Amino acid sequence: MPDLAERLADVDARIAAAMRASGRAPDEVTRIVVTKFHPPELISQLHDLGVRDVGENRQQELSAKRAALPALDGMRWHFIGQAQTNKARAVRAAADAVHSVDRSRIADALHSADPEGEPLDVLVQVNLTDDPGRGGVAPAGVESLTAHIVEHCPSLRVRGVMAVAPLGEEPASAFARLAQASDVLRSVAPDATWISAGMTGDFVEAISAGATHLRIGSAITGPRPDRG
Ligand SMILES: *Cc1c(COP(=O)(O)O)cnc(C)c1O
Repeated sequence: MPDLAERLADVDARIAAAMRASGRAPDEVTRIVVTKFHPPELISQLHDLGVRDVGENRQQELSAKRAALPALDGMRWHFIGQAQTNKARAVRAAADAVHSVDRSRIADALHSADPEGEPLDVLVQVNLTDDPGRGGVAPAGVESLTAHIVEHCPSLRVRGVMAVAPLGEEPASAFARLAQASDVLRSVAPDATWISAGMTGDFVEAISAGATHLRIGSAITGPRPDRG
């Protein structure tokens, strides 16, 4: 088994190669290491290896790990899971960026959790499947949701779009729809250039489609422990 440092270096080399193949400089992408279900010690080890962006998908786990690791200089914590309005205050307290804003109620809850506070970076999560039960706003709703945030949630800073590629579809075609959603979002929020896309199985395709933020878990951390 290669160790954590080797897996991280291997993934970073593959990211750099894919960036160059797309005519982009490797440092134009942010690699977020998804640490869900792993213990806080893993995040400390990643920090020692130079990782400064980690992602968690459950509020309680995010809050607990951040509290357990107060001294990680420069670490940015990304919340990438389904956000519930009754957890918005805790998410706002623990996250530096929230990738999963998919309805106006969650945007309103995140804003009212700290209306005068430091601006919170948020991304509009787009549902690229035909199943309305999946996380994300339908592509047709991106424009109005973005307008709502810009007009009514001044403590939130819209940074871009986020999506998970659906199973059973070529990631490239799904990510092309995400790029279109990014165009729509930028018609309302011109500076919101982030595209959060690409996981262990599809980060190369995401880079080709213009991803600026990759969310990579198991290729770096190894297999996840059971949810417990
Ligand atoms: C778990 C997760 C990831 C990372 O998945 P891997 O396949 O382990 O890279 C990325 N994005 C979201 C939203 C996740 O929940």
